[in-house]
Amino acid sequence: MVANQKTWNPDLIWKMFMPESSIRIHTTYIPQENLQDYFAWSESKHGAFRVKDAYAFLLGQRGNLETSHTKRKFWSKLWASDLRPKWKIFIWRLLQKALATNCNLAKRNIPVSVNCNICHQFPEDERHLFRDCEISSRIWSSSALGIKTQSSEYIPIDEWIRNFFQLFWREDGIKSERVREFVVTLWSIWLHRNNVVFRNLFENPSVILQRKNTLLEEFDESNRIKGIQLKRVLSESDSHQRTSPP
Ligand SMILES: [Zn+2]
Repeated sequence: MVANQKTWNPDLIWKMFMPESSIRIHTTYIPQENLQDYFAWSESKHGAFRVKDAYAFLLGQRGNLETSHTKRKFWSKLWASDLRPKWKIFIWRLLQKALATNCNLAKRNIPVSVNCNICHQFPEDERHLFRDCEISSRIWSSSALGIKTQSSEYIPIDEWIRNFFQLFWREDGIKSERVREFVVTLWSIWLHRNNVVFRNLFENPSVILQRKNTLLEEFDESNRIKGIQLKRVLSESDSHQRTSPP
């Protein structure tokens, strides 16, 4: 740095350092105020080194930073949402890798072929069954959400699922219809897979989409009835209060 001028000395820097380091030095900001130099750790909020921040930094480098806070928030939102309990448990089992897919069964030493029951070309794990298998990919692209799965094959499936939840919740709120559509699409893929495995029933994606739409309609209808019942109970208790003697 040029003494007292708060600028870098380019000639000296290019002479002393390798090009890459020189560029990094030149892009380092020099504050104009009169501040004393001090050592600061860039990964913490206030520059002080703390073991907690170092741990978060290491986890972040390994891509595991999400584990605690973001995931906890995701689960509490999911449990608080108005989805059917059955669907919530299904999402929980899917993300915990606890569904009885062929790969999960094989991991538990159950003698099954790991191959996908639908395309017979790839091992049936969550990523393949719910997103990358040809039929699932077609279901996603023709669903109301119009999701193209081809570009996401390198994203881990749990991240892919949680990202969509978070996007829809952020944009639509906790009662997001897109979350509902997303969950019921995953659920319909699972029902389709089970129909193939247990009933030898092969259906084309349009039938699967129809079933998904029926499930959504039923869900809306039951919510509407619950709403009417709730209104009736509230108005009855209201009129009861008005007519009851003081
Ligand atoms: Zn497949």
